[in-house]
Amino acid sequence: MATPTYEIYALKFAGPFTRPASMVTWFQDLDKTAQINYYIFAIRGGGKTIIVDCGCTPQLAQERNLAGYVNPVDVLKRIDIDAQNVKYVVVTHIHFDHISGVELFPRATFFVQEKEFNFWMKNPIAKRAPFLHTTDPVGNRYLAKLKGTKRLQLVRGDKKILPGMELLLAPGHTIGLQVAAVNTEKGRAIVGSDAAHMFSSYRTDIPSAIITDMIAWMKSYEKIRAKASSIDLIFPGHDPALLSNYPNVAEDISRLV
Ligand SMILES: [Zn+2]
Repeated sequence: MATPTYEIYALKFAGPFTRPASMVTWFQDLDKTAQINYYIFAIRGGGKTIIVDCGCTPQLAQERNLAGYVNPVDVLKRIDIDAQNVKYVVVTHIHFDHISGVELFPRATFFVQEKEFNFWMKNPIAKRAPFLHTTDPVGNRYLAKLKGTKRLQLVRGDKKILPGMELLLAPGHTIGLQVAAVNTEKGRAIVGSDAAHMFSSYRTDIPSAIITDMIAWMKSYEKIRAKASSIDLIFPGHDPALLSNYPNVAEDISRLV
């Protein structure tokens, strides 16, 4: 059987947020601001639906006062995806805007890098201020409870999880961030999540300002660029252009490829 090709969708669930530009592109435009959105991604093909990242629960959205928030469950409905029945969720990294909504996918198997999981669940450093403010303790607890069950797959490094879909360890932003390399009709695309907040990072090497390991991050950029069929097929985690530069298929949802 031929390897399937997949379609990739970006689904905005919160935003826009105005941030210092130097937060989304490290040490650039120190006196300017930039806009970002919060997204999850859907990958469809070969009769399967894979969700990348979980978004946030209504509870966390309220606590953090997230502007423009819509429950990811309702956003997914706009393209006929029922979160209740999603089987595969790739968790790129354990920051609140990517993990809080883990409970919204009650039947899913979550793919998380073991290194990422162990850091956030076991390392006391993860409770220190610079890490704590990016954490959702509720989401982390939910994920921790899944350990030892079939619903949590701890991944060690690069791993093919489905035909035409491979997870790639790409640390830098966090200790065990992973991206998804996906076979599409245009070639191999990368759902990069926060390996870059913005498209520009993949051309300039300037990542966001939330840095765990800058040297690892530079190596991750080399790896991601080498793996993608074209730099235009590498998709960042928070860029408003994910919505504005691609065909809209429903409210706040674009088809990237
Ligand atoms: Zn993020």
